[in-house]
Amino acid sequence: MQRSHNDYNGGQAKWMMNLPLARTMSGSKFNMDVDVKMMETMFRMIGEDGLYYIPVIGAPWHEAWDSGWAVKPGVEQHFDSWPNGRALQCLVTWYARDPGNEGLKKNIERMIHGFLTLANRQDGVGWLPAHFTNIDGSRTMPLSPQGVLQQSTVLPGVAHYYRLTKYPPAKELAELFVNYWLGPANFLKENGEWNLTPTLHFHGTTFAIGGLLDWALAVNDQALLSKVAKAYEFARAGGEPLMGWFPESLPALHPGTEPCGIGDMTVLASLLSEAGAGDYWEDVEHYTRNLLSEVQITDNWFLERMASDAGLSGETYEAKKPLETADNVADRMLGVFTGMSAADGQTQTVSSHCCTGNGFRGMYHAWSSIVSLQERTLRVNLLLNRASQWADVNSFLPYQGRVDVMMKQPLALQVRIPSWVKDIAQVECTVDGNKKVCSMNGRYLDVGALQAGQKVTVTFPMTDEIVRTQIKWWDQGKDEKTESYTLRVRGFNIVDLYPRRANVIHQFFGSGEYRQGEPRWVEVERFAPKNEKFW
Ligand SMILES: [Zn+2]
Repeated sequence: MQRSHNDYNGGQAKWMMNLPLARTMSGSKFNMDVDVKMMETMFRMIGEDGLYYIPVIGAPWHEAWDSGWAVKPGVEQHFDSWPNGRALQCLVTWYARDPGNEGLKKNIERMIHGFLTLANRQDGVGWLPAHFTNIDGSRTMPLSPQGVLQQSTVLPGVAHYYRLTKYPPAKELAELFVNYWLGPANFLKENGEWNLTPTLHFHGTTFAIGGLLDWALAVNDQALLSKVAKAYEFARAGGEPLMGWFPESLPALHPGTEPCGIGDMTVLASLLSEAGAGDYWEDVEHYTRNLLSEVQITDNWFLERMASDAGLSGETYEAKKPLETADNVADRMLGVFTGMSAADGQTQTVSSHCCTGNGFRGMYHAWSSIVSLQERTLRVNLLLNRASQWADVNSFLPYQGRVDVMMKQPLALQVRIPSWVKDIAQVECTVDGNKKVCSMNGRYLDVGALQAGQKVTVTFPMTDEIVRTQIKWWDQGKDEKTESYTLRVRGFNIVDLYPRRANVIHQFFGSGEYRQGEPRWVEVERFAPKNEKFW
């Protein structure tokens, strides 16, 4: 395991942002003292002027392989717009979980003022310089279409802080960015299609679209919301949505997928659907059940093979301290969303932790929107397992077409029925074992009013089919190439794939567990948070 300049250059803040999200999903308090130390470090990195600086002198990454460009005589601090946006977003996420926290509030508002002071402005639009240090780099930067991607991290934190507090400087700053992105930077066409010039980094762009979505939700801008929905659909068409494969750039230049993009697409699909700006629930089912889950390392037996394929086997390779360690690396990789993978498995012998930040964000939004409460009606939007204060959901997919909902509060219930069910006569519903006749409300089965303690069981036919698909990319930007797969799909899950390539270090969709017709029961303690819809 190597440390590098990128641990600081955006990495740290984006992982930290996920801590309140992951703890809310899981209820885990494991190593919470580390969260505190990490936040103290972040506070120290925010200067008097409100900007987040990456230190050079004495920094742990000082001698790292990728730091040569950053370590020059006289350079003590770096400013980069990308990690600055990440830092603000992290502070605001923590604040959303703990509203009224003065330390967070002070630092958030200091950063917003710092950005307002630093922003280059022209005719109502604003943008930040991409990079400068204490001795070089210009704080003024010309207006450029590519500028959006250098600062796409900044808007979400500003938008969420405005949503939470209606703080006027947040509005002023957000409008500078939105006017720039949709005005002179022009990265989205009027109809929401991406303005490919000639290629756009996929995750950088989906992140910017996510920022616009956050802003549209903060100020209830319906026109912007529907533009974001079109931009999402354009992105989806550039990937393979059943697998959840999305390219590193659009158009794709290689067959790898960056989990940051899968995470972003999951966030967009969840939030747009929840806001009623489109019905992308089945996209969320596909992404989360397939590649978003597969790229997360939950089983580390194959890491030894990755290391030996890279010539870094523990027996022959000696770690160069302090920037490298061989201490307990495989276990420390558990939970990581590995940097770049192929559609059918991991082919790279290295795993960057880049995507852990965005993979978790995707999981949080999917988890959060499994159930949603509107007035006194609870909607089950995704047929995924979930405990909540309102009801617990036990999904039998992809083993069987069955979902159980255990009510914990007196509420009306609606359960989303998959699109492969064409006739309501195929759906059966029981309440405490007694058959109940229900009608459909759009794609939702309307179960009606229920009491706390009642158990609802909904059953419907399952599908088990063969699907042929292709990953498409343009080699060197011009020669069209394809990778063909035959998939076995049960419900929303890919449960097997052909061909199996010999150079794949760790195969996806290979466990076989989901090919069974009977669920595999495990006993777990579930956690239902009291405060969960804060982000
Ligand atoms: Zn990434």
